[in-house]
Amino acid sequence: MRTRYDADASAVAELVADQPAYRARQVWEGLYRRLIDPAEMTDLPLALRRRLDGALPVALQPAAEAVSDGGDTVKWLWHLADGAGVETVLMRYGDRTTVCVSSQAGCAMGCTFCATGQGGFERNLSAGEIVEQVVRAARRARPRRLSNVVFMGMGEPLANFERVWAAIGRLHHDVGLSARHLTVSTIGVVPGIDRLAGAELPVNLAVSLHAANDALRDRLVPLNRRYPLEALTAACDRYVAATRRRLSFEWALIDATNDRPSDASELAELARPLRAHVNLIPLNPTPGYATPGTPAAGVAAFCRRLRALGVTTTVRKNRGTGIDAACGQLAATTPGGQRGRTVRLSPTRMASTSTSPRRTTPPGHTTERTTSPSTTASGPTTEAPPEAARLAAR
Ligand code: SF4
Repeated sequence: MRTRYDADASAVAELVADQPAYRARQVWEGLYRRLIDPAEMTDLPLALRRRLDGALPVALQPAAEAVSDGGDTVKWLWHLADGAGVETVLMRYGDRTTVCVSSQAGCAMGCTFCATGQGGFERNLSAGEIVEQVVRAARRARPRRLSNVVFMGMGEPLANFERVWAAIGRLHHDVGLSARHLTVSTIGVVPGIDRLAGAELPVNLAVSLHAANDALRDRLVPLNRRYPLEALTAACDRYVAATRRRLSFEWALIDATNDRPSDASELAELARPLRAHVNLIPLNPTPGYATPGTPAAGVAAFCRRLRALGVTTTVRKNRGTGIDAACGQLAATTPGGQRGRTVRLSPTRMASTSTSPRRTTPPGHTTERTTSPSTTASGPTTEAPPEAARLAAR
């Protein structure tokens, strides 16, 4: 069945074809500008509201919700019509409000350190299922305005390019979010980067690098065997040349794995020619990957080294670690293992236990740049540019 945000303007117009001509615009603005449900469109006749409610069903049924960071981080688990589960994370900061959305149920990329990758692939999300995540989060963010969307939830966005791009178009043109506040993250799908470089809207690109030599990256990111670093950095070069947008590299720091001085030197060699901004985040624990993240002192040392090598670098602060909403954790929670305040939800959001439902998936995302000197390397904190305002390593 066509879901509420999968219906295009002509489908909505068809649904109100027996009404005055202005009704279609009224409904469209209600859905995309006012972000309300048909039942709340009190400027429509009651019978029409009911008809629209039935004809345009929501895609996301809330299954669980968890809150942390004093209410500033909210994670949802949604069940889709076919039973697939996806997660969305809302993060409020001093100067902006960001939502991290999923683009797939599960992920086929199999990155060894990532809970989503450990769980396997279910299916691509539709554009409407992606847009609806943003709409739900924007409603929750009120009275603040949702300012940023990052495609860093479950899944590899560029492996679901058509639907992700359709969702981006809807968010930009209809919801009114600037393309410069939309960030697409990738583990390194080279053809997708090239398509992004030629696309109409100037969205931001974040490449989750994690290793700067092929031997290590082959181990951490299996896709690297198909698109090794030479091909990936060449695509990044084409992207920067075509868009003039700033590129960011995401780097999940893994203890004694990719946090050595030699790793910093290799990373600097790749980042400098591309003028890429590097975002560092200590890896969050997941059940299927034993190696911990780099301790704080090691993070600071790695950051100092990169800066000394001429690379603009930001240390990202984890958000949502207490609710398994942090980088690489979203799918890691198992029943009985929930650490945050989680509420199991009936379809009407009533109910209350403290365990997370079925295993879903996470990528690496729910982190943000730090502004506290205590969590950064010594020296001035580099402010991430707007286009780098994404969240950690996928
Ligand atoms: S890190 Fe991203 S691309 Fe890799 S398995 Fe996880 S969700 Fe997929």
